[in-house]
Amino acid sequence: MSVRFPSALLTLIRELGRLPGIGPKSAQRLAFYLFNRPEEEVRDLAEALVGAKTGLVRCPVCFNVMSAGQECCAVCSDARRDRGLLCVVEQPADLLAIERSGEYAGLYHVLHGALSPMNGVGPEQLTIDTLGRRMAGLREVVLATSTTVEGEATAHYIARLLAPAGVAVSRIAYGLPVGGDLEYADEVTLGRAISNRRPV
Ligand SMILES: [Zn+2]
Repeated sequence: MSVRFPSALLTLIRELGRLPGIGPKSAQRLAFYLFNRPEEEVRDLAEALVGAKTGLVRCPVCFNVMSAGQECCAVCSDARRDRGLLCVVEQPADLLAIERSGEYAGLYHVLHGALSPMNGVGPEQLTIDTLGRRMAGLREVVLATSTTVEGEATAHYIARLLAPAGVAVSRIAYGLPVGGDLEYADEVTLGRAISNRRPV
């Protein structure tokens, strides 16, 4: 009695359903939407997906996203940056948000996530191990992880890890909503949070 979708449609729904925030209903809706779009438009989307995957890599120094073939990212290669300051963020989007605030001119370290033991994310899943090797010549490390439970736990973990290095460690706090993701904060709030960072 039951009518099954054609296999190509089932495959598309399954793949779309793997994306974060896309449930089965949304995946199905997107699949039918794409089916009804012109072939050229769908090809452009497919090429953009593959192009982003093959054309982008992590900066070998700070793990920010950058074009493949470059030596390091635009921040790391900028001679005007203050090399005594290092700001630790969860995602490249957070780095961009802090850049938009215009309040920070140091270097970055992108973790690509936050510690979350419940979800199997430990220090090995992040770029925390290489952070310790970047302490030479630093005056201050700014912990700009999210104000979520995971972000706070990550900040505490890193502060403890870096304590023996003898570098000042500060945490952004003021003005940011508790439980908030950095990338959604407005520039003024984020700029103030950076300026008013406190030692940890
Ligand atoms: Zn970099």
